[in-house]
Amino acid sequence: MSGLLGAAEIREIAERIGLRPTKKLGQNFVVDANTCRRIVKSAEVGPTDVALEIGPGLGSLTLAMLESASAVVAIEIDDRLAGELPITVAKHGFDIRKLTIVNQDAMEVATLPIDPTVLVANLPYNVSVPVLLRFLELFPTLNSGVVMVQSEVADRLVAKPNTKNYGSPTVKANWWADLKSAGTVGRSIFWPVPNVDSSLVRFVRHAPAGDESLRLQTFRLIDAAFAQRRKMLRGALAEVCGSSAAASDLITSAGIDPTLRGEALELSDFIKIAITLSK
Ligand code: SAM
Repeated sequence: MSGLLGAAEIREIAERIGLRPTKKLGQNFVVDANTCRRIVKSAEVGPTDVALEIGPGLGSLTLAMLESASAVVAIEIDDRLAGELPITVAKHGFDIRKLTIVNQDAMEVATLPIDPTVLVANLPYNVSVPVLLRFLELFPTLNSGVVMVQSEVADRLVAKPNTKNYGSPTVKANWWADLKSAGTVGRSIFWPVPNVDSSLVRFVRHAPAGDESLRLQTFRLIDAAFAQRRKMLRGALAEVCGSSAAASDLITSAGIDPTLRGEALELSDFIKIAITLSK
């Protein structure tokens, strides 16, 4: 059998392995081959790439990735899906040696057998932001990627300052990469049909703005600023800086107005405050 997975085959595999998709694991499978090819194309997966997939499920995207990449690493938490994937891959005529399956919770993966260069994933909805941030942090070889996430999450990842969607996920993701919206995906291409809309986000890694200690300090400030996002910065950062007066002095000497709210600051502003705080 050649080609990619279609709706009928997906139902057939699910029935055969007794799979009842669960909300808890965000199991909504793509049943449309064109959408899979579109996602892999927008990720610009090429013949020298090692593609990483988080949550391959029944393999819809995995097969599309195998058409383009030199190798694919797929991390799947569900034992039955991880067990069935090599069978599906072989049945569709792909070289099984190109695929490495890691049957683990992505939030617990700390190393991989091969360094991935590109991430392509229809991320499980409940862990999409932490998984994305974790893999950007752990695997510096990951240069770019396209992730499918709930539209609400996509809006947050690409938000601009001073908007309601702008928050800690936006600023933290910006530490690692430039992110932009790569279109929406209709609900009807999933089985089961989810009750939320999905969107694609493309990212390209950029050079880090500083070392690990600066990142940790910056992330601490971001967490504090957005934990109390209605407060002025001097109030929101009071605990991290010792007092509201100390926070006010520090923010001012970083060249930033302490009466602003965190949502007005770009990543570079948080970095300026973190550098001043470290001095
Ligand atoms: N990529 C497939 C597709 O597009 O049809 C499936 C995507 S489905 C939205 C999410 C997949 O992630 C499921 O296969 C689910 O079992 C898996 N998953 C959920 N939580 C996970 C975790 N913490 N680590 C790894 N895989 C996970």
